[in-house]
Amino acid sequence: MESAKENQPQEAHLLVFPYPAQGHINTMLRLAEALSFAGGLRISFLNTEHNHRLLSSFAPRPNFRFLSIPDGLPDEKPRSARVIELFHSLRTRSVDSFRALLLAGGSRDPDGWPPVTCVIVDGSMPFFMDAAQALGIPAIVFRTISASSLWVYLQISQMIEAGELPFPADADLDEPIKSVPAMEGFLRRRDLPSICRQATKAEDKMLQLFANISTSATRSRGLILNTSNSLEAPILSQIRSLFPTTYAVGPLHALVESITSSSVSASLLSEDRSSLIWLDAQPDHSVVYVSFGSLVQLTQEEFLEFWHGLVNSGHRFLWVVRPDLVPGGTEAVQMVELEERARLVAWAPQEDVLRHRAVGCFITHSGWNSTVESAAAGVPMVCWPRAWDQLVNSRLVGEVWKVGLDMKDVCRREMVESMVRAVMEGKKAEELRQVAAEMAVEIGRSIGKGGDSMFDFDRLVRDILSLSM
Ligand code: UDP
Repeated sequence: MESAKENQPQEAHLLVFPYPAQGHINTMLRLAEALSFAGGLRISFLNTEHNHRLLSSFAPRPNFRFLSIPDGLPDEKPRSARVIELFHSLRTRSVDSFRALLLAGGSRDPDGWPPVTCVIVDGSMPFFMDAAQALGIPAIVFRTISASSLWVYLQISQMIEAGELPFPADADLDEPIKSVPAMEGFLRRRDLPSICRQATKAEDKMLQLFANISTSATRSRGLILNTSNSLEAPILSQIRSLFPTTYAVGPLHALVESITSSSVSASLLSEDRSSLIWLDAQPDHSVVYVSFGSLVQLTQEEFLEFWHGLVNSGHRFLWVVRPDLVPGGTEAVQMVELEERARLVAWAPQEDVLRHRAVGCFITHSGWNSTVESAAAGVPMVCWPRAWDQLVNSRLVGEVWKVGLDMKDVCRREMVESMVRAVMEGKKAEELRQVAAEMAVEIGRSIGKGGDSMFDFDRLVRDILSLSM
């Protein structure tokens, strides 16, 4: 039985709501987990009903529970290939359930918990931030993309005004972009988020949608980013000029471990831990880890180009082939299973894989989580970004951090082979490994005692607690 004091409305009760996709849930669950150890906070982690069922193995604790609301799509529909449809469904069909949940509390709450005093909502769904604030509940926004990608989205109007956006379909993609401050030295048309390449007119709906979503965070109490000075200091200072209350608390998977001394799995698919046993049997730095995240799909041809490139490189590889990675691609997948030096899994415990001594490089689609996990583990990358913010991240890895090679827009077996060789063999590989190791040390400092991410995390805790007073 809870005491009367525990049910008083001023007790801090934080509700955390990620966009219902793997990369977003991973990061925000880690933040919620870290906050639950801060003391004085109850946390409700909100999922869509669809994902709630997939995450049901995650045990709640006295001050940490899971809640769910419908996402408005029919149950049987797979969500992964329907990012935009899911977004619109949430916007038009889920806000009422969200509001009802915020209005509950005390006797109307399923567990008798006090009313919500603050929400941390995924910034890609500003309608939930607005709904909370309309009820007088302060909202802090979490953007799960890199500060650099957010900065580019924030500069869409600037690029349009400068005549740099849109550009014709046959334009030279290597042309530099000059109107994005702090990125003039390295950003090319090629590195802009995919919506910029696709836009044919300044009034393009997606361009406007992304610009609006990004600026909407200015209406919130603060902005949380899964980054740190060790990763993106110059861009972070630009972001702070627009959002003075920015908390750069990344990389969260590492921060939560340094706070709780344990790791949490937020996987929607079941992790195949036999990949770690296979890695145990391989020499140091001998394995190429390949994963394209939770959403990217490959054509049969692309899959085979990667496959031949990897085989021709002569290196061992561990490849995450999700059941939906190659639509209709079972034949190609069966072929890979025949290769002795290769190991295929449907879903890997990626953070543990990246930390394994046997892994020598990571072929990645440059999703932000994968990028920071690799950077924190000191693993050099070969980047093959497909869309969205990934195109910005891969440029950061190749040109700014210099901990990998950017293979964007090319998918040929010769290129895959030469990139893998460059990152795994010889002097270039040694240099990359050295720079990646140094960066991992810096990241470790950020999340340790006295580090800048830990400092921002403590500040975030204090601010959340003060919002309930
Ligand atoms: N991931 C994993 N096992 C896998 C592949 C990916 O646990 O086999 C995790 C990975 O660690 C990362 C997330 O899935 O945290 C993918 O997020 P990211 O931002 O890299 O890409 P997205 O899936 O959003 O495109």
